[in-house]
Amino acid sequence: DIKGLAELEKLAVLGHGNGGTVYKVRQRRSSSIYALKVLRFDHDAIGIWHQAGREAEILKRVDSQFVVRCHGVFDSGTDADSGELCFVMEYMEGGSLHDVLRLRRRLPESVISDVARRVLEGLKYLHGMKIVHRDIKPSNLLINGKGEVKIADFGVSQVVAGSLEAGDSYVGTSAYMSPERFDSEKWNGGPNDDGFAGDVWALGVTMLECYMGHFPLIAPGQKPDWATLMCAICFGEPPKLVETASPDFESFIQRCLEKDWRNRGTVLELLSHPFVTKRCTSAGGLFLG
Ligand code: ATP
Ligand code: MG
Repeated sequence: DIKGLAELEKLAVLGHGNGGTVYKVRQRRSSSIYALKVLRFDHDAIGIWHQAGREAEILKRVDSQFVVRCHGVFDSGTDADSGELCFVMEYMEGGSLHDVLRLRRRLPESVISDVARRVLEGLKYLHGMKIVHRDIKPSNLLINGKGEVKIADFGVSQVVAGSLEAGDSYVGTSAYMSPERFDSEKWNGGPNDDGFAGDVWALGVTMLECYMGHFPLIAPGQKPDWATLMCAICFGEPPKLVETASPDFESFIQRCLEKDWRNRGTVLELLSHPFVTKRCTSAGGLFLG
């Protein structure tokens, strides 16, 4: 367990996200390489602090080959006026699926199938711990040196537990949000919508994006403002796949993008879907080359 910034040496910036920067770091004692995510916020922003604290608690309990490991969470303690929360993560040298898509534009079905299987295994593990990820998207699926994809980033995830106070849920806007998340009544009070189905929706959108090479629910040039996105997600027809897509892939996407979350495929159902079980290659080599 890594307990403070003093143990680490920053080597490079790996990327920036919403409110945070990710660095490549080396542990001085062992020379091991890690990724360090630093989230900055005002101490006034109590909500974010709680959010981050929750993220920390969750991360410490997570131990799966399909989920990026966390090796420590601490306050940097460098600034009295603002807070800096640091997460030491497993270093994923292949970058994110978002980075891969920027370079390659599109991925073949055999690779998408392998990615889908790994993400579904990760979701099965997380959901089994009553954790809803809530931010599945290409930039949160990371690739290690062996070409293995793992789920990362619990920035907006939360433990679904009886103890969770009503109205405490984080509602962020994301292009990968499921239709039911636009229905705040259902989201905040619905007895059955626990959010798990939203992760399956986001997986479907992400896999479709890997195939089409762009965010699939709106036209490539269209401005992704909130109203456009909401209309596309809640009322739009799922995009038609080109004829080259296999019937298995088409059916997999259809099960993920079922608008009514009650009818959507579950993680367990999708893990035994032919698109996932009949895959012919493992993603490894294709990501690395
Ligand atoms: P958002 O803040 O909306 O989640 P994001 O996922 O792009 O967006 P970050 O999670 O801060 O933002 O990550 C920024 C980038 O840093 C990622 O896109 C990825 O390229 C890189 N990165 C993140 N975590 C790691 C890691 N563990 N190993 C290697 N690179 C990483
Ligand atoms: Mg991220």
